[in-house]
Amino acid sequence: MEPWSVFTLLCCLSLTTLTAAEEEVVMNTKMETSDLRWTTYPSTDPEWEEMSGLDEEGNSVRTFQACPMDGSVSHWLRTRLIPRRSASVVYVEIRFTVMECSYLHTNTRTCKETFNLYYYQSDEDMATSTHPAWMENPYTKVDTVAADFLLRRGGERKSNVKTLRVGPISKRGFYLAFQAQGVCMALLSVKVYFKKCPALTHTFSSFPETVPHSLVQQANGVCVPNSAPSGLVPRPPTMLCGEDGQWVGPPSTSCVCKAGYEPVDTDRCRACGAGQYKSSMGPSVCRVCPMNSNTHSVGAVSCSCRPGYYRAPTDPPDTACSKPPSAPRNIVPQVNDTMVTLEWSEPLDRGERADLSYAVECVRCGSGRVCVPCAESVSYRPAQSGLTARRVVIHGLRPHTQYTFTIIAINGVTDTSNTPPATSAINITTSTDVPVPVSGIRRTKASEASLTLSWPVPAQPHYTILDYEIRYCLQGEDEVWQYISSKVNSVVLNDLSRASQYRVQVRARTRAGYGHFSNTATFSTLPDGMESHTRLIVTGVLVGAGLLILITVVAVAVFCFRKHSRLRDSELDKSGQYLMSQGVKVYIDPFTYEDPNEAVREFAKEIDVSFVKIEEVIGAGEFGEVCRGRLRIPGKKENYVAIKTLKGGYTDKQRRDFLSEASIMGQFQHPNIIHLEGVITASCPAMILTEYMENGALDSFLRLNDGQFTPIQLVGMLRGIASGMKYLAEMSYVHRDLAARNILVNSNLVCKVSDFGLSRFLTENSSDPTYTSSLGGKIPIRWTAPEAIAFRKFTSASDVWSYGIVMWEVMSFGERPYWDMSNQDVINAIEQDYRLPPPPECPAPLHQLMLDCWQRDRSSRPRFSHIVSALDKLIRNPASLKLTGQSHDGLSPPLLDQRPPPPLSQCGSVGEWLRLIKMERYEENFIQAGFTSFELVAQISTEDLLRIGVTLAGHQKKILSSIQTMRVQSKNSLRY
Ligand code: AMP
Repeated sequence: MEPWSVFTLLCCLSLTTLTAAEEEVVMNTKMETSDLRWTTYPSTDPEWEEMSGLDEEGNSVRTFQACPMDGSVSHWLRTRLIPRRSASVVYVEIRFTVMECSYLHTNTRTCKETFNLYYYQSDEDMATSTHPAWMENPYTKVDTVAADFLLRRGGERKSNVKTLRVGPISKRGFYLAFQAQGVCMALLSVKVYFKKCPALTHTFSSFPETVPHSLVQQANGVCVPNSAPSGLVPRPPTMLCGEDGQWVGPPSTSCVCKAGYEPVDTDRCRACGAGQYKSSMGPSVCRVCPMNSNTHSVGAVSCSCRPGYYRAPTDPPDTACSKPPSAPRNIVPQVNDTMVTLEWSEPLDRGERADLSYAVECVRCGSGRVCVPCAESVSYRPAQSGLTARRVVIHGLRPHTQYTFTIIAINGVTDTSNTPPATSAINITTSTDVPVPVSGIRRTKASEASLTLSWPVPAQPHYTILDYEIRYCLQGEDEVWQYISSKVNSVVLNDLSRASQYRVQVRARTRAGYGHFSNTATFSTLPDGMESHTRLIVTGVLVGAGLLILITVVAVAVFCFRKHSRLRDSELDKSGQYLMSQGVKVYIDPFTYEDPNEAVREFAKEIDVSFVKIEEVIGAGEFGEVCRGRLRIPGKKENYVAIKTLKGGYTDKQRRDFLSEASIMGQFQHPNIIHLEGVITASCPAMILTEYMENGALDSFLRLNDGQFTPIQLVGMLRGIASGMKYLAEMSYVHRDLAARNILVNSNLVCKVSDFGLSRFLTENSSDPTYTSSLGGKIPIRWTAPEAIAFRKFTSASDVWSYGIVMWEVMSFGERPYWDMSNQDVINAIEQDYRLPPPPECPAPLHQLMLDCWQRDRSSRPRFSHIVSALDKLIRNPASLKLTGQSHDGLSPPLLDQRPPPPLSQCGSVGEWLRLIKMERYEENFIQAGFTSFELVAQISTEDLLRIGVTLAGHQKKILSSIQTMRVQSKNSLRY
C-alpha cells in the first residue's frame, strides 16, 4: 500500500480508539496513612466512627462506620476540603457495605438502606462543625446511593463500589458529605479523581495533556517540527478532549511535512538527504534530483542545475535542467525583389526541451560594413519572434541593399542562461527594385490599321524608367504576343487588322530590370469607312510601295543567288549578322543590339544571387576570377557551376563585353558547347554561371595526363569538339579562337567548346602573348588560318584550320603547336607550305585529317560535318588507328619538320635531354639506375624503363621514340 493511503486511512480512524483516558486522583482514603479526621454530625454522640481495617488486598486502610442502634436517620460525615485542581468535574468512587435494616434494628420503619452524597464548594477551607449547616441546602446533592449487596445474617459479605460524577465545580475546592439514613454501613474507601486527555502526537500534530471542563474541551495543538498546517487558510490544529478523558478526533486541520522534509511514521518529518529534494509541503516523500541537477545539502527544496544547465522561471523544480538550443542550421534564403523568405533546419541540439522557438533579427549594412537595425517598416510573417515553424517571410526591405538576417534559436532557458543564444546568420542582398506595374492604358488615337496608346508614368521611387515594353495580340489568339518597346509612355501599334480587338499589356523597365506586365487592356482598330477620305490615298501609296518592294526583292534575290553561287561554303561570311536560313536558328551578335544589355536579358536567364554559393577560385578569366560554386534553384536539383566574375572597377564597356559572352553562349544548346546556366546582373559583382567542368581546360588536362589515353579515347574527345563546332557553324557562328585551352573537359571526358568572349581580340592592352596584335584586333597566330591572319577573313573554314591545330594539340598531349618557334617563323613556315608533322604515335589518318584542315585554299578544307563523319568512321574502325608514322600520300604539302631533339652529342647531360623531351620528372630514376651516359641510354629497353619506375605506357613510348629518333638522326646525320 502506498504511504499516502496508509496516512489517509489513519486520519480517518477515530482517535478514541488510540488513546486511553488518564485519571488524576485528588483524594484517596486508601492512600492515607494517618487519621482522616473528617467531621461528623451530630457532633455529640456521633454515629460515624473512624476505624482502621484491611482492604481486599490486606492493606491497612482508614474507614468510617455508622451503625445507629436506635435507627435515627440523619448522621452526617464530611470530608476535609478537597482541592479541585484543574478539574471542573470529578468522579467519586465509593466502596461501601450496608447492613440490612432488619439485621440490627428494631425500628425498621425509619431505617433506609441507602445514603446520600452531597458536596459543597468553597475557595477556602472554612467549614466548621456547624457550618455549612447540616442539611441538604446549602449542600448540593449528588445522589442517593443504594447498595447492590446488603449484609445479611448468614449472607455473603460483599462490598459495593459506586462511582458518582460530581460537578460542575468552579471554586478552588469542595467538601463531600455522606448522610447515612439510619442504616448500619461502612465506607471502606473513597477515591476522588478527575479524567483528562493525555498529551498526544498524531498526524504531525501535537496536543498537550488536556483536562476537560465541559462535555467536550477544545485543545490547541501545534504541528510537529518541520511540518506546518495545511489547507487553504492554514491554522494551528485543534482537537476536542471529551469529558471522559478521550480525544475526539480527527484534528481540525492536518499538519503536513514542509518542503524538504518527508513523513516518517505519521508523526515525524525527516529532512531529505543529499541528492534528494522535496519541492512542496505535503505527504509526498523525498525524490532523487531530476536529470542534470544535484544538491549537496540536506532538507533541499529543489536541486540546483549542473553547470551549463538551467531551469526556466516557470519550470517546476521537479523538471530536469535543460540548456539553450544550438544554432539553427542551413538557412535557405529566397529573395524575391524586396521580399525575402528564409527557411532553416532545426538545431542539432534542442537543449532537452520541447519549447523551441525562433526569432529573426535584421540589420541593414551599408558601405564600410556599418550595419544598423532594420527599420520598423520591415515586417515579418507570421512574426518576428516566437516562431515555431522554421520559415519567415520578410517584407518591406529596401532594394539593392545588403541585409544580415540572424535566426536565433530560443527555448525556455535561453534568458536564464548567461550565454548569448546560438544564432545563424545569412547575408542577403535584395535584388531588383522592380518597377511598379503600369496602369491606366488608354487609346488616344485609332485607325483601321493602327492604335495609339498612352499611359501615365508610374511613380517609381528609386530609379528612373528607362523604357517600356508593350506586348499585344489579336483577341482570340491568346499568347501569340508581339513585342515592341518605347522610350516614352505612349506607343503606336501599326500593321493591325481593321475592326479587330487587340489585347495589350505594358511593363516598365528600370536599371533593375522589368516590372510585371500591366493588366490586359483591350482596344479595337476602326472598321472600314471610318477613314474613307484617306483610304484611297493610303491604298495608292501602298500599291506604289508594294511595287517598289517587289522590285527590290527581285533585285536582292538575283544578287543573292549570284553571290551564293560564288560561295562554295554557305558557312562563310555569316558571322556576326542577323541571318535567317530557311528555318535554321542562327546566332545573333549581341552587339547588333542598340543596348547590349537587352541581348543579355533576351538570351541569359537572370539568377537570384541567393541561389548561388561560391566555394573556391579555380581560375583566372579575362575579367576576374573564375570560381566553382553551387547553384540551388528552388525546386531544382543542386548543381555545381563555374562562376565567372567581373572584378570591381570595370567600365560600362567592360561590363558589356563581359556579359556579351553570356549573350552568345545563351543562344547555344548542344552537348559539346558549354551550357550557360544564367547571369547575375542585379547585384555586384556581375557573374556568368556555366555548367561546371571537373577536368578544366583541355590543354592542361592533357599535359597532366601525358600519354595516358589511348588513340581511340583521344579521337572520342576530338569527335566531341568537332560536333560542337559543327553546331556552331550551322548557327553561323565563327569562334575565331578554337584552341585546346578553350575546350573544357568534364569528369566523363566529354569535351565542350567554350570561351565565346570577343574581348580578347579587341583589347589592345591584353597581356596574353598568345594573342598578337594585328590590324583590327588580336590574333592567336599559331591557331589561326593564314587568310584570317592576313586579311581578317574569319569564317567557319578558318575555324576548321584551328580545329586541325587542336587535333595536333590533343594527339601530342598538350604540346605547344610549333614548339618555341616565333610567331613570325610560324607565319613564314605556313606561307612556305610547311605543316606540323604528326605527333609521336599519331595514327596516320588523323594526321591526314589535320593536313586537310590546313589547306591553303579555305574552300578545300573539310567542313565540320565532314570531320565528324570522318572521325566517326575511325572510331567504328579502330584498326585504322593502328597505322602510325610520317607517311603521307605525297599530295599533301610538305611537312614542317618536327623539331627534333638535338643529337646526343649536343646535349650536356641525360638530365638536359629528359628536360627537352619534358620527361624531367624521371631524371632521378635514370641517375639512380646508372643511366648517366648517352651510350647507356641509347641501349635502354621497355623492361629497363619499367624497372626504373617509368610505368606509364605513354611516357615509355615518348622516351623510347626519342631515343629511336636520336639513333636515326645520328645514323643519317640529318640536321634541322
Ligand atoms: P576562361 O575565362 O573561360 O578562359 O576561364 C579561365 C579558366 O577557368 C579556364 O582555363 C578553366 O581552368 C576555368 N574554367 C572556366 N570555365 C570553367 C568551367 N565551366 N568549368 C571548370 N573550369 C572552368
